[in-house]
Amino acid sequence: MRKRIVAGNWKMNTSIEDGSKLAEEVSKLVLDLGNTDIGVAIAPPFTHLATIANIIDSEKVCLAAQNCASEESGAYTGEVSASMLKKLGVDAVIIGHSERRSYFKEDHATLTKKVNLVLKHNMKLIFCCGEVLDERDQGIQNDIVKKQLEESLFHLSAEEMDNCRIAYEPVWAIGTGRTASPEQAQEMHAFIRSLVKTKYGDSVAESTTILYGGSCKPSNASELFSNPDVDGGLIGGAALKADDFVGIVKSF
Ligand code: PEP
Repeated sequence: MRKRIVAGNWKMNTSIEDGSKLAEEVSKLVLDLGNTDIGVAIAPPFTHLATIANIIDSEKVCLAAQNCASEESGAYTGEVSASMLKKLGVDAVIIGHSERRSYFKEDHATLTKKVNLVLKHNMKLIFCCGEVLDERDQGIQNDIVKKQLEESLFHLSAEEMDNCRIAYEPVWAIGTGRTASPEQAQEMHAFIRSLVKTKYGDSVAESTTILYGGSCKPSNASELFSNPDVDGGLIGGAALKADDFVGIVKSF
């Protein structure tokens, strides 16, 4: 069966002190859950990764980064490479988040390079896709998501897809308090799985984890996660409170 995962994207939040405390609380609460097959990941800011790598129990909580450079190394002021992240103990990298796409103008060529570097350095990939409100209103959300996957993900081999998780994040639901309905989430997740099936076949499609992201919280997580094609969540705001975040993990 495919892996079910709840991943927290902290974005540009928390001081090193607050972030360390949050990581410690999450780690403890996850430990208290006992044996669970739900994968838990946290993605703190770059500056916290080395410290937090030593705080969390890496058997229970996976350390993720929110981004990486599109180049291997060299004169790229301010960038952090995939190999640097790997050496810090990072297990997974989020690529293609809508905030990176819109504020930092990351296009498909850049995203493709990042995707390749994450996998080259033996980390897992959490690849985000999703439409903006205007595209949903026009009814073209499937075309948009298909294009995003075809442009930056579907060049990978079936073996490489093993290390990829897809996060469907309708942009209109991110940080807005407006969640996709369970039906809307299921419909898109089933569509994404059908695209993976067409490209890679049944077995890859069945084993690909597809996460939902967008104003997911303890009060709506169970309803979203009860859908057959929703394999967990990528959580923003609610990942900043250990109880809420672990509450979402518990809602499976
Ligand atoms: C996100 O940015 O990935 C996200 C899902 O944010 P939020 O949960 O705050 O909507």
